[in-house]
Amino acid sequence: MATPKGKEEFILTFWGGVGTVTGAHFMLEGAGTRLLVDCGLVQGHFRVGDKENRAPFPYDPASVDALFVTHSHIDHVGRIPKLVHDGFTSPIYSTPPARDIAEAMLYDSMGVLEKEARRDNLPPLYAEADVAAAMRLWKTADYHEDIPLAGGIVARFRDSGHVLGSSMVEFSYNGRKIVFTGDLGNSPSPLLPDPEEVTDADYLVIESVYGDRNHEPHEERKRRLEAIIERTVKEKGVLMIPAFSLERTQEILYEINSLVENMNIPPVPIYLDSPLAIKVTGLYAKWSGYFNGRARALIKGGDDVFNFPGLVKTMTTEESRAILNSPDPKVIIAGSGMSNGGRIIHHEKNYLPDEKNTLLLVGYQAAGTPGRIMQDGAGTVKILGEEVPIRARVETISGYSAHKDSDGLMEFVGRTKDKAKQVFAVMGEPKAALFFVQKLRDYLGVNASAPMPGDRVTLDMK
Ligand SMILES: [Zn+2]
Repeated sequence: MATPKGKEEFILTFWGGVGTVTGAHFMLEGAGTRLLVDCGLVQGHFRVGDKENRAPFPYDPASVDALFVTHSHIDHVGRIPKLVHDGFTSPIYSTPPARDIAEAMLYDSMGVLEKEARRDNLPPLYAEADVAAAMRLWKTADYHEDIPLAGGIVARFRDSGHVLGSSMVEFSYNGRKIVFTGDLGNSPSPLLPDPEEVTDADYLVIESVYGDRNHEPHEERKRRLEAIIERTVKEKGVLMIPAFSLERTQEILYEINSLVENMNIPPVPIYLDSPLAIKVTGLYAKWSGYFNGRARALIKGGDDVFNFPGLVKTMTTEESRAILNSPDPKVIIAGSGMSNGGRIIHHEKNYLPDEKNTLLLVGYQAAGTPGRIMQDGAGTVKILGEEVPIRARVETISGYSAHKDSDGLMEFVGRTKDKAKQVFAVMGEPKAALFFVQKLRDYLGVNASAPMPGDRVTLDMK
């Protein structure tokens, strides 16, 4: 493996999260120090226990000096227990909310991973003990706090406004700065502060999930959610909202809380049918000090922003099954966000064949997932081995995306374009990343590229 030649040369290696939106995993080496940013699971197909996730790490995990976690989505933290199992013993850093949420996410994902491993007659990707060991290595730092590292490197987190506790991580050395954006929030978010601006990055590793697309305007999203709930009630139908347990669920609850309390929608039972989402919502309430000013003011004024008349939280499988026998109309929020597992698929199997029902997609639907297949207008979808006809309406509200759109990403890079020697577009499907790179070159004149897995580049830190 190549090592940095001089004190003023760093090497950046793209181990994962390139050419795809998941599996974030980057290595930065320099000043005698070896650092990692994120260690995520590869997802997006029907399985998460694929061989990409089982493959040994292409370096010795024991040789790494620290791991920085931008946020708690499983495609950024999901392989950490394996890293620890394989010999990593150094500190893991994130913000305090990111630590708590990552713990909930990692314990929860064990169930899925175990089920898949059993099906394939393989040992699980990692055991509970590995998650516990990872949590013992975990340290927290707040936004803007200096984290001094060996060799004179200083790390800092900045708010990326993507999910609660999410960060960009910047490494300063010799007056130079390398910034990894993690995922960048689509501001304004109902709950979170806007992502901080970066104006002084010499090297920028930036996400590009929506590098080739723009979202609908923010004002539209709440109005459309209101209209869809109203229609569901009027037609005595069922509204299914597959939602990611982290952030999307809390955003939707927050919006519905406001619609209910302002009596914009008629009374209707709203089921939150996901143990993980219920748990994460509790962590959001715990760390509400990290919300934006507007949300904090509401809470200070006495509003329990994730609770309202009609909300039913269903923890157990029996409670979840009982939703089927509850009267219509009703709204069901459940995971997984791309309909490739979780409780939502049982509801989809029951309710998709009826035209008075609606499936509302509010998150990113990766290529190949049932969510994307339904979004693309398929007449049937395979659920639990059965071809289910889709007669329900399938609607998408893209304004709820937790990622900056193409224009937002351009604006973000624009602020640091005069300083940036190089911009690397990562975390995008090839089409999105390459389109974004071309746009950066054409409109901002920056030196941009979309790296391939395993690519390593030398960074000049003089
Ligand atoms: Zn994310």
